[in-house]
Amino acid sequence: MQCSEARRLIGARIDGELDAAGEAALAAHLADCAECARHLVEQQEWHAAIKRNAARYTAPDALRQRLAAAVADAERPPSTPSRSRAGEWRQWAIAASVLLAVVLSSSLTAYVTRPNADDRLVQELVSDHVRSLMADHLTDVASSDQHTVKPWFHGRLDLAPPVDDLAAEGFPLVGGRLDYVEQRPVAALVYRHAEHPINVFVLPNRGGPAAASQSLSQRGFNLLHWTRGDLAFWAVSDLNLAELRDFQRLFDRNMAAAG
Ligand SMILES: [Zn+2]
Repeated sequence: MQCSEARRLIGARIDGELDAAGEAALAAHLADCAECARHLVEQQEWHAAIKRNAARYTAPDALRQRLAAAVADAERPPSTPSRSRAGEWRQWAIAASVLLAVVLSSSLTAYVTRPNADDRLVQELVSDHVRSLMADHLTDVASSDQHTVKPWFHGRLDLAPPVDDLAAEGFPLVGGRLDYVEQRPVAALVYRHAEHPINVFVLPNRGGPAAASQSLSQRGFNLLHWTRGDLAFWAVSDLNLAELRDFQRLFDRNMAAAG
């Protein structure tokens, strides 16, 4: 027997679908092939691990009922009004495997993509901030006049960023810029405090933290993230966190006042 055939039989055995002849043929191969014998052990362990871990999750009743109903609808031929016991069991087996797949894929997806997506966004924002300083391209529209900067974005973006000059509070508006985050154009509002530029990236709100802000630091820069209404904001600066928070409070207060 070839190893490839042995691997197929191992799969069938794990699924409980190997007949006696197959069992005997596989046993003969495993006696001579350490590789396949190890593969069988690994598969058994993997199978057991899935069973063990999946058992921790229980489906909410509503989901259980929806799954059972969906499977019953799909399985029942139009002419049979009632289900046999065996049929019922089979539906539960299918529902259970669908549920297991849902649980495994959703928890894996959450684990694999969530931290990375946030991480990528933060990296991108910091890179955009750094590029805006290095390439001498801090602004597309350089103006401390909010009535010049705000309309400049009109027609360039689907969202209207709030623009308020905060010069009286020590954070003069420098201008605005079209930047790119997650492959889409976003507004970057540029402020300054002493010699520290502050980029405020304005993105659509996809369910971030409300009023209270999140902070983090990355590559020597401080970032603050908050949302208001359908907009999400990221302020990036080399300014210390306390002053960046002052700026955020002023910015957000003005926006709240504007309605
Ligand atoms: Zn083999």
